[in-house]
Amino acid sequence: MYAIRVRLGAHALVAGRGRVENGGMMNDAQDRFEMELLEAALEQARKSLSEGGIPIGSAIGSLEHGIIAVGHNEREQSGDTTAHAETVCMRHAGRRRDWHTLTLASTLSPCIMCSGTAILHKVPRVVIGENRTFMGAEDLMKEHGVSLRVVDDPRCVALMEEFIAARPELWDEDIGVVSE
Ligand SMILES: [Zn+2]
Repeated sequence: MYAIRVRLGAHALVAGRGRVENGGMMNDAQDRFEMELLEAALEQARKSLSEGGIPIGSAIGSLEHGIIAVGHNEREQSGDTTAHAETVCMRHAGRRRDWHTLTLASTLSPCIMCSGTAILHKVPRVVIGENRTFMGAEDLMKEHGVSLRVVDDPRCVALMEEFIAARPELWDEDIGVVSE
């Protein structure tokens, strides 16, 4: 756990709104909550994989209210091309007026559609498991004042690397890569 924390510190991007910052240091309770959110997202990603789906998971919540909703990519399971993890997770969170107080976690860097959903509802903080296998619309989120934290969790990287190697055509379809 110690080693992971050191890496988190090195990779934490503290930008945009200062809600979770505490004199330049990340608040410990928020830090732990964000890791809890990411664990829930990872559990969702594994669940999707076990169902024959794309292994991307998401969770949303706040330190005050805990985990409010989780979700995973359901495109393979449901046939809905927009059923990405983050979007499904926010759908599960229902209609709300407190989006601006929530933290969204995803095992993978959110694509432009999911980033757009988070931006639209003014979610201020997004925790990203990894962005090595896919770089989403992080610049767009930052432009809109979203504070990002890239954890670079090796478990999230391995999950995607294995999936992309095994099912490249499913992955290309998910991220809108046009096949020849
Ligand atoms: Zn997406």
